[in-house]
Amino acid sequence: MKINTAEFIISNSEVDKCPLERIPEYAFIGRSNVGKSSLINMLTNHKNLAKTSGRPGKTQLINHFKINSNWFLVDLPGYGYAKVSKKTKSVFQQFITDYFEKREQLVCAFVLIDIRHEAQNIDLEFMAYMGESEIPFCIIFTKADKISKVKIDSHIAAYKKQMFANNWAEIPPFFVTSSTEGTGKDDLLEYIDEVNQE
Ligand code: GDP
Repeated sequence: MKINTAEFIISNSEVDKCPLERIPEYAFIGRSNVGKSSLINMLTNHKNLAKTSGRPGKTQLINHFKINSNWFLVDLPGYGYAKVSKKTKSVFQQFITDYFEKREQLVCAFVLIDIRHEAQNIDLEFMAYMGESEIPFCIIFTKADKISKVKIDSHIAAYKKQMFANNWAEIPPFFVTSSTEGTGKDDLLEYIDEVNQE
């Protein structure tokens, strides 16, 4: 698939105000600075689509873009732990979990992870939340140009090991990307295209 048109639709902080149109939706989420805006701009062939959509500090907004007039690409805010008592288990910001629990047209989420680091607890916990909530997702490893192929393989192996240790029966599909080099773009768009055909 080629992205011919990418149109900003709306930014908001309430799931109930997201567009009602029933077209397939794909969401992109990760910690802030993971490279999400760069990846969205790479996929859509835009320089500034992901950054120009909202107010400054738009980090807490859900941004909808309509792609090729037939699916939504959703730029979700960076996840972090909500402030709760230390005794309760980690929870993520309410409106992020609301989004995943309410948004029926969501086909697949892409969880972005910076490939430069060893497996991080917050990312593992977020994926555990997605798994427990039965939300289909793929992993996108970002910034692959920053480390060697050997390190990429060893970091992916470390994630797999941790996920198997956390009772995952199988690892979700994953993509290795670099927005500066265009790596992974075709595979990712191909995957979305295939899922859209199903
Ligand atoms: P966001 O906060 O997740 O939207 O992250 P950004 O897309 O704004 O990227 C955060 C920083 O990482 C910026 O300085 C980007 O230039 C840099 N960055 C993002 N993707 C890549 C990549 O694939 N390769 C490299 N080398 N840098 C990247």
